[in-house]
Amino acid sequence: MIQRIPNLLGIYIHFPFCVQKCHYCDFYSLSIKEFQEDTKQIEKIFVERITEEFLLRYAYFKHFEVVNTIYFGGGTASFLSPESIVQIFNLFKEFFRFSDDCEITLEGNPEHLYNKTYLESLKEIGINRINVGYQTKNYQYLEQMNRYYNIFHYEEVLHNISSIFDNWGVDLIYGFPNQTFDEFKKDLEYVLTFPLKHLSIYSLTVEWGTMYEKLIKQNVLKEPNHMLQEEIFINIPSIINNASIQQYEVSNFSKKHYECRHNLRYWLYEPYMGLGPSAHGFNGKYRYNNYRNWYKWLKNFQQNYSEHDPRKEVAITMFRLCIPINLQWIKEITEEYDLFFDFFEEMNHKKYGRFLYEENNTYFQWYPDGINILDNLIINFFYKMDHLIINQKH
Ligand code: SF4
Repeated sequence: MIQRIPNLLGIYIHFPFCVQKCHYCDFYSLSIKEFQEDTKQIEKIFVERITEEFLLRYAYFKHFEVVNTIYFGGGTASFLSPESIVQIFNLFKEFFRFSDDCEITLEGNPEHLYNKTYLESLKEIGINRINVGYQTKNYQYLEQMNRYYNIFHYEEVLHNISSIFDNWGVDLIYGFPNQTFDEFKKDLEYVLTFPLKHLSIYSLTVEWGTMYEKLIKQNVLKEPNHMLQEEIFINIPSIINNASIQQYEVSNFSKKHYECRHNLRYWLYEPYMGLGPSAHGFNGKYRYNNYRNWYKWLKNFQQNYSEHDPRKEVAITMFRLCIPINLQWIKEITEEYDLFFDFFEEMNHKKYGRFLYEENNTYFQWYPDGINILDNLIINFFYKMDHLIINQKH
C-alpha cells in the first residue's frame, strides 16, 4: 500500500520556457524564441534566481531534514543543462539530505530527450526518472495546436529513453478536434510497445485565456469532442489491457511501485517547496505561490504565505486517487473526519466504491463507476460540506 509521509519534503523547480507556445497550454511558459538572450544566458539567470529563491524559502522549510522527491518541470525543463542541474543539487544538499530512494524526475520534450548524450549525462548526475511530453504521434494534431515537433525526434525519443532509463513515462493527450477513437488508440498502443513504467493521459481542455480559446471563438478551431473524450476515458483501461499497468489516479497509470512519488505528494497533502515563476509551495501549514510572470519573479518573490483550510483541498486532491485511500490520512489532516466517513459510506452504499480493511487500517477505494463521474460526486460532497460549515457558524 502507498504510504503518506508528511515529514519528508519534495522540491519542484519550474523552468518557464518552451520552443514555442502550444495553443492549449495553460502552464506558465514563454516561447524562448521571443527573447534576445540565448538559452545559455537565460539558464544562467534562472539558476542564479532559483538559488536566491531557495535561500529565502528555506526559512519556511527548515524543520525538514530529508528530501525524497525532486521534480524539474515547466515549461520545458529539458532545456536545462546537466551542469545547471548539478549546481541546483549542490545547493539543496547544503541544507537537506536526499533519501536513499529519492525520486528525481526531469520532465521534458522530444526535441531534447531524443539525444542520447544528453540522456546519459542526466543519468550520470543523478536524474533517475524521465517523463516525456509526447502527446500524440499524429503530427497533424501537434501542428494544429502549434506544438513544436521534429519527426526525427519523435521517432527516436522513446527508443532512446528506454535504452538508458528504467523509470520513465509518457504524457498523452486525447480529444483533439476531429481526432477519432482509433487514432487515439493507435497513439496509446504505440507507446505501449515500449517498456515504459508510467503513463499520464489527459483530455484536451479549453482553458480560459489560451490561444485555443481565442481560436475557437474566431471559428478557426473546433472544441474538443466531449462525447468522444468520455468514451475514450472510460475505455483507456481496456485499451491498455495490461494487468501490470494500473490506474492510480484519474489521469495516471503505472506499473506497481512506479507511481510518480512526487505527484502523489500533491494528492496526499504532503509538503513541497516550489521554486520558479508560477510555482507554489506548502510547508505543511502555510501555502504560497509565485508570480506567474518571469520579469516580476526576477524582481521579487511573492511572499503571500497563508494558512490553509484543508477540507476542500483534501477532497479535490485525495479523491482523485484510484488506489486505496487510508482513512487515517484524512484524520491526520482535518477534524471533519466524520463528514468524509459518511460520504464514503454513501459511496459504498451506491456501489461507487468500497471499504477495504487491512492491518487495523480502513481504506476506501473507488470503483470505475465512481471514477467515471468523480467530478459530480465531488460537487455533491462540497454541497454537503458548505452546509456543515454554515451550520457551524450559526
Ligand atoms: S511544451 Fe508543454 S509547457 Fe510548453 S507550451 Fe507546450 S504544453 Fe505548455
